[in-house]
Amino acid sequence: MTNNTKASKYFRERLEEFHYLLDGGDDLFCIIDANYCYVWANRAYLDVYGLQLEEIEERTVEDVVGAEYFRQTIKPRIDRCFAGEAQHYETEWNYAGLGLRKLLVRYYPIDLPHKPNTLLGAVITDVTEIRARDQELRKLAHITEQSPSPVAVTDLEGRIEYVNPAFERISGYSREELLGNTPASIQSGHTPETAYQELWETITAGKVWTGELQNRRKDGTLYWESEVISPLKDESGRITNYVAIKQDITALKEAEQALNRIAFEDPLTGLFNFVGFTRKMQKHIDQHGWPVTGALVTFNIARLRDINDAYGHEAGDWLLSRFGRRLKDLPGEQILAGRIGGDEFTLFILPAHGEALELYLNRLVESLSLPFQLASVNIEIELRLGYTRLGKRQRPIEDLLRESERALSLHRQDTSVPWVAYSKRIQKETQKRIELARELRLALAEDQFELHFQPKVDLATGTLIACEALIRWNHPTRGLISPGEFIPIAEQSQMIGPIGDWVLYRACQHLRDWRNAGLQPVRVAVNVSIIQFQRGDFASRVRTALDQSEVAPEELALEVTESVFERESAVLLNQMSVLRDMGVWLSLDDFGTGYSSLLYLQRYPFNEIKIDQGFVFKLLEDPFSRNIVEMVIMLAKALNAEVIAEGIESAEVRNALIEMGCRSGQGFFYSMPLEAEDFRWLLEQRSKLPLTTDPGH
Ligand code: C2E
Ligand code: MG
Ligand code: MG
Repeated sequence: MTNNTKASKYFRERLEEFHYLLDGGDDLFCIIDANYCYVWANRAYLDVYGLQLEEIEERTVEDVVGAEYFRQTIKPRIDRCFAGEAQHYETEWNYAGLGLRKLLVRYYPIDLPHKPNTLLGAVITDVTEIRARDQELRKLAHITEQSPSPVAVTDLEGRIEYVNPAFERISGYSREELLGNTPASIQSGHTPETAYQELWETITAGKVWTGELQNRRKDGTLYWESEVISPLKDESGRITNYVAIKQDITALKEAEQALNRIAFEDPLTGLFNFVGFTRKMQKHIDQHGWPVTGALVTFNIARLRDINDAYGHEAGDWLLSRFGRRLKDLPGEQILAGRIGGDEFTLFILPAHGEALELYLNRLVESLSLPFQLASVNIEIELRLGYTRLGKRQRPIEDLLRESERALSLHRQDTSVPWVAYSKRIQKETQKRIELARELRLALAEDQFELHFQPKVDLATGTLIACEALIRWNHPTRGLISPGEFIPIAEQSQMIGPIGDWVLYRACQHLRDWRNAGLQPVRVAVNVSIIQFQRGDFASRVRTALDQSEVAPEELALEVTESVFERESAVLLNQMSVLRDMGVWLSLDDFGTGYSSLLYLQRYPFNEIKIDQGFVFKLLEDPFSRNIVEMVIMLAKALNAEVIAEGIESAEVRNALIEMGCRSGQGFFYSMPLEAEDFRWLLEQRSKLPLTTDPGH
């Protein structure tokens, strides 16, 4: 059957004139008449089905697609189209060489003048790729819609084009409220402008921005989100949209903040603790550079212990927390405050431009040391303060803290100045101390220590009644070094334990040697540092030393300086009581210089009180010293303890002491501390002291 009707012919001729319009595209296109015969087909159509335009009028659709497919799929639709109803449908077709393709087929009825529905135009579009992409997109859309993570898409100006349900849920805004607005509507207002600037710079440059932002819900509450914002590009690489994928990290942030508080904050004052302070200060320096004019100040509240003792620990805590408040409320220049020890605080300060640091410190001390009002009592406080300037030399925060703490400890020793600044000189001395500490270790191993003995004498008769063992360091290059120089260093460097043990054993050894030599020894007093007590096992160490040397406890005396009470504790009291029960003689050294309360004196089991040499030296010319000496003698009587004066340098002082009722003493007037051999000779001779003619006797 051919379709050589006039109409088809006319139509074919028109199409051939314009065939270039229809041959250009990828779509297949053909015209069919009511007998299912081809009238015309474009190049793409002919190629796909292997047809020639010249022979096309000879062919029917059924020839080309096969009887089965024609009858089932095509014919019913063609018929409906000829009935005037355009057809759209999708089908699949297996092309030789191309495989199975998805096709969108459309039939349009073509009306010729005065002849409706004589022809039919078919357009066949290969939609295989489009449908595959659609499928992908549908999957993706499903994922974003279901995702628990908020997702938003904005246009280039940041106006929201899409949000998923999670976004609505977390922000509290509905999709309608958000679309067309910028994310500024959910900003917390706490994020610095620079953060947003950085964000925009990154994404407009086509890069992905990741970060954390704090946002605000519709109900006003704040929440944290971790965000990945990436630019969406079209095929030509042009940015068309921005996509933000977020995650609610509020709980994580809160946990992190709580942990930070524990790790970096002092719970009592809310100030940074040591670790927090160093971190924060490092961060500040990383951000703003090394502040040449800055200073690190360390200070403490003097005698906080007194306050604790007088008003109770709650009062002490209250005072510390109020003090912390003062630091937080410091105006202006102050940058960082921390509590880095029990009563120790630190400030990193940057005085206002041009202001002298000293003036600033003056104001600081003045405002910080105002008295505190606790109920009806006025609590006065005194500050000790040391500082170090940052200057040009960059160094770790730990070094700065060490420097200002060193200055602080020097201020504790000399409070006649308002504060101490760390200096080159202090630095040199510190280095010397470090060097000494190192050498101390060696000294013990190489047996560089020795004990000297100073007689304790009955003032009235000059009889030797006891002695004090005093340590000397026989330094290989520097000669004899006095304990005043190295004991404090040993106390700070953990060396005091081993050195103290050495003294104890050596003193006991001497005692035993003297006895074995048939001499009648006197009690030997050994000086003990508070640090030796703090280990908690001091009494048992003494016991072992005595046992091993076969020395009776009564032959040994222990001298502790009055300053032990600055660190009075249950451990100390307990150890002392054990020693006293053992029968060891206990002596309170340097009495009158340090920290004592009648309470301690009464509670602690001292056999003897030693009047500090400072008062003894000035006994004759200084009425105050005389009063103190008198008072100590009375006090000792009341406590049922012996009293002994140290530092007697003249017969006049000795006489005055006797007159005041003091019965024993020691000092250069009687004898210098003697080498062991010389002291042994004294024991042998049992001569009265002093050895030179004494006009007083
Ligand atoms: P201290 O226990 O008060 O010892 C008395 C100090 O005064 C001794 O100084 C002694 O030589 C000195 N001295 C004695 N009589 C006079 C005098 O008439 N005039 C003057 N100007 N000074 C006199 P030294 O030996 O330099 O000891 C100083 C301090 O070092 C001792 O003071 C004691 O606290 C400590 N020390 C000495 N040996 C030891 C020790 O083995 N262990 C401990 N932990 N500390 C010790
Ligand atoms: Mg002593
Ligand atoms: Mg003394």
